[in-house]
Amino acid sequence: MGKCDRVRMCAGMLLTVTALCTALLTLCAGDNAAAAFAGRGEQTAVSTEAAGPLAGLTIAVDAGHGGYDGGAFGRVSGVAEKALNLDVAKRVEALLSEQGAKVVMTRTGDYALCDEDPPIRKKLQDMQRRAKLITDSGADLVISIHMNEYAGRSESGPQVFYRENCPAGRLLAGTMQKSLIDVLSPAKERSALGGDYYILTLGLPGVLVECGFLSNAQEEALLLTEDYRQKVAQAIVQGIVDWQGLAVEKPEPLVAVDRSDEPQAI
Ligand SMILES: [Zn+2]
Repeated sequence: MGKCDRVRMCAGMLLTVTALCTALLTLCAGDNAAAAFAGRGEQTAVSTEAAGPLAGLTIAVDAGHGGYDGGAFGRVSGVAEKALNLDVAKRVEALLSEQGAKVVMTRTGDYALCDEDPPIRKKLQDMQRRAKLITDSGADLVISIHMNEYAGRSESGPQVFYRENCPAGRLLAGTMQKSLIDVLSPAKERSALGGDYYILTLGLPGVLVECGFLSNAQEEALLLTEDYRQKVAQAIVQGIVDWQGLAVEKPEPLVAVDRSDEPQAI
């Protein structure tokens, strides 16, 4: 048995143990959406670094919306996007930490990062504070997690957005879109797209992931299960690992855009 074979064998055993633990946790947790959001409690905003394929990377994980801003709502269950975003973000945080990354969360509970008063410009203040938190952390990339909605209820499928003219973000969007399709086998296979999102204009590579459509009854039902949300998180992290493993020089992203006076909605 060569060195490579031993490494593969160890990796295989580790994967088996990880899969068993995941299966046990899933069995224990059940699929009740309410239970999924209860009892997780506050977590520290920064996870510790460990060995792994993502060691040395600092990754900002942004759970979209929060607090007064619920985001989209499930047409059948009424579930708020903000809750699903946070749940997936925490799963991504845990998996990224396992892969060796240092993780910075923009929020760890149900709140927005704006003041209650004055009530106007809340969204802009929330986004500016997320941006400051991310840039102050020295993050290498940002992953913003959202759920989609559309007037037509037949639209479905996860989709990854990147900032136009940011080759590193585009590359990441490509590996993540492929991973989401590979892992989730969605009924509709979408392509990664360029998008004008505030969170992607901070001067570091990043993607915004729309995990699925809450306006589609079938996808809403899937997103309400812990098992599916765990798969979404695994696909997101696999996309980052695949991106990191690409043996190409990742071009520098463009400089940050000053949009301090622009109201933005995402
Ligand atoms: Zn959203």
